[in-house]
Amino acid sequence: MDIKSIIVKKMNSKELLQKEIEFFVDGYTAGKILDYHASALLVAIKLVGMTEKETFYLTNAMLNSGTTLNLSDVGLVVDKHSTGGISDTTTLALAPICAVCGVKMLKMSGRGLGHTGGTIDKLESFDGFKADIPFEKAIELLRKNNACIISANQNLAPADKKIYALRDAIGATDSLPLIASSIMSKKLATGSNAIVLDVKYGNGAFMKTKSDALALARLMVKIGKKAGKKMDYVVDDMNEPLGYCIGNKLEALEAIDVLKGKQSKLFNTTLALATKCISLGLNISANQALAMAQEAIFSGKALQKFKTMIADQGGSLKLFSAPAPKPTLVICSPKSGTLKKIDCQTLGYLVGQMGASRTSLTQQIDYNVGIKTFHKLNATIQKDEPLFEIYAQNKTQAQTFAPQIQKCFVIK
Ligand code: URA
Ligand code: CA
Repeated sequence: MDIKSIIVKKMNSKELLQKEIEFFVDGYTAGKILDYHASALLVAIKLVGMTEKETFYLTNAMLNSGTTLNLSDVGLVVDKHSTGGISDTTTLALAPICAVCGVKMLKMSGRGLGHTGGTIDKLESFDGFKADIPFEKAIELLRKNNACIISANQNLAPADKKIYALRDAIGATDSLPLIASSIMSKKLATGSNAIVLDVKYGNGAFMKTKSDALALARLMVKIGKKAGKKMDYVVDDMNEPLGYCIGNKLEALEAIDVLKGKQSKLFNTTLALATKCISLGLNISANQALAMAQEAIFSGKALQKFKTMIADQGGSLKLFSAPAPKPTLVICSPKSGTLKKIDCQTLGYLVGQMGASRTSLTQQIDYNVGIKTFHKLNATIQKDEPLFEIYAQNKTQAQTFAPQIQKCFVIK
């Protein structure tokens, strides 16, 4: 077998064999296949596509490139995956809600890079919280609390890491089979038995339209089911931030509000995901699962569980009772009208630039900086009413960023 004939075969729209896909994945991961060959094949896949069979083989080849965790002695473990959005803080509230309902959740999450926020950074807003704990310790906490959130550092699907970096460098990220296999190779490696996918669409997401998000969700569900997992999904609009806040500590506080039962779009999406996770985890109807999730929140038990989870990983509980942070600058609407557009991606990017995320993974970040918005799309806004607040490192930074942030809100 040689890589050039595999590239030519794909360019000619032929279906690749399992052994050809494995030859590419194993060879590229081992450094035996060169970047230009791998690039050519990835571009061919992006342009020609892949059958479901090929996508499944690609997923498995990447899955088998690293560690696969085994959680079978812990029982049925549910995982949730979001394809990434802005102010997308569901995990922090979801894990304790599920845990209270008796559904075990071991979440391996990432740090923010570029314009996206990371669940781990939000958790590290609790002073002292440790996300990089040994896997054995995570299992112990999973048994004790039914939930544990740690950073993904277990050498899961290293082939995906390498291929994803190359896709990013050559502009071959937006391909349904490449995205589906990339996400599912990592999810299947975590050892959970059931997976709920939260697939986003809109200007702040990978998928721009709802029909593309549905196609991606259905493809990933097929891959998961073929691997023997229980699968479900939601699709979620990302043409506006999910919550009101963007920035690590502000988002952590917003997750606490969800656990206190404060109604919002973030609350609704978290509850929808909890319903799916509990229904899969306990094999009960959606209505029963929804009632359990609501009870977990309104009894206060989920909030208590979240405090326990934070404390057990060394985090301070001060944020749970601290006074609300004060904005550096409040920007009011320059005119009356309807909020027609929110440029989520740029908002995420700007908050990142203010210090909330990294340009490299070792960089220090600022947990306090962020934006609080007040309106969802199509809201009627009066002139001079607050449009957003900036939480900055200082007044100068707030003033520097204000005009660019303001441009993200289109009022007509
Ligand atoms: N997230 C991933 O992990 N991989 C992709 O290809 C896209 C989003
Ligand atoms: Ca292999």
